[in-house]
Amino acid sequence: MSGLGTFGRRGLARGALGLMVGGALLALGAGPAPASAQGAAGEVNIYSSRHYDTDQTLYKAFEEKTGIKVNLIEGKDDELIERLKAEGRNSPADVVIAVDAGRLWRAQEAGILQPVESAYLTQAIPVNLREPAGHWFGLSTRARVIIYNKDRVKPADLSSYEDLADPKWKGRLLTRSSTNIYSQSLTGSVLAALGPDQTETWARGIAANLARPPQGGDTDQIRAVAAGEGDIAISNTYYLGRLMNSTKPEDKVVAEKVGVFFPNQSGEGAVGRGTHVNLSGAGVAANAPNKANAVKFIEFMAGPEAQKIFADVNIEYPVVDVLAPHPTVAAWGEFKTDSLNAAVFGKNNAEALKIMDRAGWK
Ligand code: FE
Repeated sequence: MSGLGTFGRRGLARGALGLMVGGALLALGAGPAPASAQGAAGEVNIYSSRHYDTDQTLYKAFEEKTGIKVNLIEGKDDELIERLKAEGRNSPADVVIAVDAGRLWRAQEAGILQPVESAYLTQAIPVNLREPAGHWFGLSTRARVIIYNKDRVKPADLSSYEDLADPKWKGRLLTRSSTNIYSQSLTGSVLAALGPDQTETWARGIAANLARPPQGGDTDQIRAVAAGEGDIAISNTYYLGRLMNSTKPEDKVVAEKVGVFFPNQSGEGAVGRGTHVNLSGAGVAANAPNKANAVKFIEFMAGPEAQKIFADVNIEYPVVDVLAPHPTVAAWGEFKTDSLNAAVFGKNNAEALKIMDRAGWK
């Protein structure tokens, strides 16, 4: 965090002077490298909406390995996107790190990311976990699963997201609001699989089956399942992982009452497409002053040593599949993932929200 103050001032200087004396700055840059505290390798400015202590450890490791100084700006996803838009051509941002393909799509649509080519990223990251033109790259993944109350539901009762709309779940299902991006990305993936009409019918079924109006986050849905307010919930895997690894006894009690089910594992056609998986990811900012360093930084984050640390801190899956995941993640077992490109359900977010609105999924 020590870079925050200097970074802020530097950003201001660029904003104020960049347009007026752009030519002068360019001339300076073309000359011999001036003596600088940054060193010859320069710096990279990261705008991140992911905040974990080990992410900071990784940034330090990158600095030590490359000599490139990392300056970090943290903020909420939508705030960071707005900030980049406002800064425009003078933005000092080099790398944008965000959670959920829906947000990365929004950033791309807002014109604040640029496509980059990297042989390493193309080879290391599965094709469905990166934007096809290189605007952003997945760095960790999470599955959106069904959490069930082990006393009331057997795994054999569960099958697919589609089945959650069946009247047999009436008054038993818990999920967060349609205004949440995870709901929009899941519905965006259903939209890609089933088309708009069937997706709306499905969303109507979901809304009709809810045990209560949507409230709270995924952890609240899991707690409600454990407390018997509903029998099943839709949640990202890491929320259960956090409860399982919590030091609070009451969290462990919750975690012990529930099981995890990976939907859409079998069946002909769309129903056998696999479980919906979303990501945390990074892209290079449209006006990155340190573009080469930005690419190096993302390559480092997708490298084997960083991957394990980046995924484990939030009990997520690494995107580089040669690595063994966190023991909690590994214990859930292997599963088939929906191979739909994250850019497709990211793009589908807006239409998904309209469908959920029409269907009464609040
Ligand atoms: Fe989350």
